[in-house]
Parts: sequence; structure tokens; C-alpha cells
Amino acid sequence: MRHTLLALATLTLTLSAPAADKLKVLIVDGQNNHKWDITTPVLKDALESSGAFTVEVSTTPPKNSPADAWKDWHPAFSNYAAIISNYNGEPWPVAVRGSFDNYVKGGGGFVSIHAANNSFPDWAEYNQMIGVGGWGGRNETSGPWLYVKDGKLFRDTSKGNGGAHGAQHEFIVEIQNTAHPVTRGLPKRWMHAKDELYSRLRGPAENVEVLATATSDLTGQNEPNLMALSYGKGRVFHTTLGHADYSMLDRGFYETLQRGTEWAATGDTRATADLPADFPTEAKVSVVQLPGYPKQTAPAPKK
Ligand code: ZN
Repeated sequence: MRHTLLALATLTLTLSAPAADKLKVLIVDGQNNHKWDITTPVLKDALESSGAFTVEVSTTPPKNSPADAWKDWHPAFSNYAAIISNYNGEPWPVAVRGSFDNYVKGGGGFVSIHAANNSFPDWAEYNQMIGVGGWGGRNETSGPWLYVKDGKLFRDTSKGNGGAHGAQHEFIVEIQNTAHPVTRGLPKRWMHAKDELYSRLRGPAENVEVLATATSDLTGQNEPNLMALSYGKGRVFHTTLGHADYSMLDRGFYETLQRGTEWAATGDTRATADLPADFPTEAKVSVVQLPGYPKQTAPAPKK
């Protein structure tokens, strides 16, 4: 009887960790050239459905707000195990930038989603955190174009703008580092839902491991999709995936976001490493069902 009770208690714990055992994380949104109001609930679901996280959201003032509107926006970053950015917009106030920098440098976790790597082209510390980014005037002066060539990281210092993508399409994500906690045990190649395949990303590209790539139709290179970085004592998980809700509603996106966020928060993936039975294969996308979604429609391919 006692053993049964114990087994039952253990089972309950396994199925749903009590809130106190979950990692409290914060999504920051509010400005983006993407539909952040539609995609933040998907990110929230992706994280919470793992059972490993409780998620809060902090929304900045909208674009072109008077300076006054920003004075109350100052998230208490240190209350969270990781900060997830779904933000691409105006510079944050100096004090917020300073506290975010101190938070990550001091050991906090940061997760950059898709166009979050377009943000803050002139914020040097932020570009160190994300390693590489695109658009916003980024070019060779921002740092090398980073890609994987012959199985090795290649830093291309030739001239050119940072950031490019072709038409959206499904594409194969290829794991480059099978030993990292974020990618360990995942199929080596899997088909990702329709998305933009970012290429020519540029930046300081220091302290970065490229975990997964996809071959760009524009450049022919293995462009980074998933990256793990260190910044001071902090860890950064950078995914270039996630243009729209239908790009995020992909079991591969869900799983790598869960693992990447846990890794950024703790340095490991104890709570999120179980491989879901419906993980995509090389041949087939695996769509996550979320009531009311997708709300966005992928553009028809250009003829
Ligand atoms: Zn996009």
C-alpha cells in the first residue's frame, strides 16, 4: 500500500510539476514587424504545454508613444529564470537596457525568437548576446556573416548587408551538434513548417555554437537556425525560426523552444528532453493543434 501511494505520488509529480517547481519565464513583446499579438499566445502554449514553465508576458508601449509612456515599463528581469523576446522595435529606455544587460551577464537566461534578432542594431551588448542578427542597417561593419561550411563554423568577412530570406517554404532543419542538451537525441534532419529561412546574418559571432542549420535557397550555405551562446555568466538560446503562428505550430519548433528555454534558464534540459512521439520526420511536418489557430495564412508561392 505504502509503495503504491509512493508510486502514485511520483507519477503525479511526473505528470504535472507543482507550480513551485516550474521555471518562471517572461515573454517580452509589444512592437514587431510581425504579428506579435498573434504569436505570443503560441509561444506561451509551446512553453506551458511542456509542464516545465509558468509564463508571464510584458508588453511594451506601442511604437511612437510619447517618452512618458515608457517610464512605467521596467520588467523585473531578475524575478525570472529566462526572458523570451518576441520584440523587434524601438530601443528600450537606457535603464531597462542596463538592467537587462546586467541580468544576462549575471547568469540570466535569454531566448531570441525570429525577428528579435532584427532588433537593436546599435546596442552592442545585445548583439553580443544574440551573436548575429539581420536587417536594421547591419552589414560587414556589424561583424562576419556566420554559417556552417564542411561541418565547421565559418565567419565570412566579405562585404554585404546582414539579413536576407526568400519566399516562405517548408525546409529541412539539420542538427549540427548532436551532443548539446538542446539537440541531443533529436532526429538529425526534420521537416520544419512553412517559414522564412533567414540567411546572411551578421554580428560579433562570439561565444556561439551553431546547433542546427538549413540550406538557404538564396545563398546555398548552411545558415544557422538554432544557436547556443554564452554572455558573461548567462546563456542565450537563439532561434531564427518562427515567422508566423503557422511556423511556430510545429512540433519541432515547440520541442526546440522548450529545450532551448530550459537550457538558457538552467544549463540543462532535464524537464523537456523527452522526445515527443509526433516529432517531425525528414519527410513530413508535424503540426501542433492549438484551438483557434492558425490565425495567419501563408502567402501563396509566387508563380
Ligand atoms: Zn519574418
